[in-house]
Amino acid sequence: MIRVAQVIALLLITMLVGCSTAKSKMTTQSDGLYDRSMVRACQQFIERRGGIVDDPASQQRVEAIVEQLLGPGHACHIKVCILNCSALRAYAWSDGWIIVSKRLARTEDEQLLAAGVAHELGHLLADEHLRMPDESRGNALISDVADCDLDSEIAADRIGMILLSSVGIDPDAMQRLLALLEDDEKLSTTLRRGIGQRIMKINQFLEK
Ligand SMILES: [Zn+2]
Repeated sequence: MIRVAQVIALLLITMLVGCSTAKSKMTTQSDGLYDRSMVRACQQFIERRGGIVDDPASQQRVEAIVEQLLGPGHACHIKVCILNCSALRAYAWSDGWIIVSKRLARTEDEQLLAAGVAHELGHLLADEHLRMPDESRGNALISDVADCDLDSEIAADRIGMILLSSVGIDPDAMQRLLALLEDDEKLSTTLRRGIGQRIMKINQFLEK
């Protein structure tokens, strides 16, 4: 089991080593991690959700999906860790961490995992913590997202689906993932209702 302190240390090392590609907004934001309160917030966020599990195979699997979706030039800004959590969960931290539960990271359904990762990358892209990969930048649907006053979850779903289809993965996987979450009784009624609304929006988006 990797201690959270080690994760934070690793995070700082990654930041110091940096990346050979052009600077993104995320690099600038990463400087904020030196702020103790932010490190503590990240640590608490992970601890509250079960802590980190040492699972190199799952980590590599998620990293490969990030690279597939973003391309190596952008994927190097992303760091992945696996959460010791038995529910289907994924989170994005604004400094470029994609945090995936062991249940989702180990699913046999590769497209489902890709959808979860794509949604989280969608958050980072929507909030401009990350740049859109070149292959997807020209996509007219991106400006569609930018023009609409969308809830951030819906925007992340849409960008995630664009990422999925740009690498030949059926964007329907996003809907399948949300349908599974909608059936998750551990989620509050409000959250599940919100997921139902997201599924409706995805249907409208796909019908366009
Ligand atoms: Zn989200």
